[in-house]
Amino acid sequence: MRLRVHGPSAHAADVLRCATRLARRSVHARPSYYPAKVAIYEVGARDGLQNEPTVLDAAERTAFINMLSMTGVASVEAASFVHPKLVPQMAGAAEIMQTIRRHKHVAYPVLVPNRRGYDDALKAGSSAVAVMCSASNTFAQRNVKQTMQQQVEGAVELAADAVGRGVPVRGYISCALGCPFEGAVPVEVVVALAKALADAGCDEVVLADTIGTGTPGGMAALLASVQPQVPVERLAVHCHDTYGQALANILVALQHGVASIDSSVAGLGGCPFAGPGAAGNVATEDVLYMLHGLGIETGVDFDRVVLAGEYIIGKLGRGNASKAAVASLRRRPNDFTAATARAAAST
Ligand code: MG
Repeated sequence: MRLRVHGPSAHAADVLRCATRLARRSVHARPSYYPAKVAIYEVGARDGLQNEPTVLDAAERTAFINMLSMTGVASVEAASFVHPKLVPQMAGAAEIMQTIRRHKHVAYPVLVPNRRGYDDALKAGSSAVAVMCSASNTFAQRNVKQTMQQQVEGAVELAADAVGRGVPVRGYISCALGCPFEGAVPVEVVVALAKALADAGCDEVVLADTIGTGTPGGMAALLASVQPQVPVERLAVHCHDTYGQALANILVALQHGVASIDSSVAGLGGCPFAGPGAAGNVATEDVLYMLHGLGIETGVDFDRVVLAGEYIIGKLGRGNASKAAVASLRRRPNDFTAATARAAAST
């Protein structure tokens, strides 16, 4: 309704219009200290499945990746080029890279822990790679039988090679907020690794809370130290929910301007260092529910992610670890019928 006013009352009408505008804005507006848009980097098909006890074959994993491709996520980490004897869950990586249906708006990076994996990944037609190093010496030795220094040197070498070939590359820093063997990790170590990966040309440096011991306080302190060395546009966070801190840690990262978030559909993954039953990677559905509630654009269809999650937990014979998925399935069962799931799988 338009107020018709003249003279001194015009001011009152202006105030009223302004107040109404502000009131409307406060309901839906995104506070200015959050990014307008966030890219979701889906790790379920790699970090998720790699840490599940049930081993799926390449065809099942390809079908899963094809479903994830249709959700609107920016990236689907599709495989890890490791020896199948070491990680049987990731066997058939080359076959997967040759059979997945690529969506033109989705990137399909693969993890390459070493030169052999890197060469195999490129041979299999991978168009983006992820290298890794660790902020803990003991973790590096147990994980890849190298010192922390050797591991980061290898990662830097592969990253530089990828940059030379024009292949997009991402650099993970494991244990950035704590190590299962050494406990707290010095922030300076993470900063030095982040700078090394960024200097090598990594498009994105990922601060990974591999064991989920990080807290919002630790995340804030880490980001405050890393940001002067690596611009926030090139930072991503990878959080685990072992101690129930993942969403809070991600919220802090968003407040620092981080706009690339790793997550795993249905919370796939477990935590290999926290024993059976412990929470794993933060669930994509939970991250999306929070981001959309903040008015942050992701381009991701929440319901399609839920359906992909239901598909894969059916194959694995496990429960859904996403609270937002479980609540949505209970509250809106008709939106997730078998017919809808079939349609989502076939598109
Ligand atoms: Mg992980």
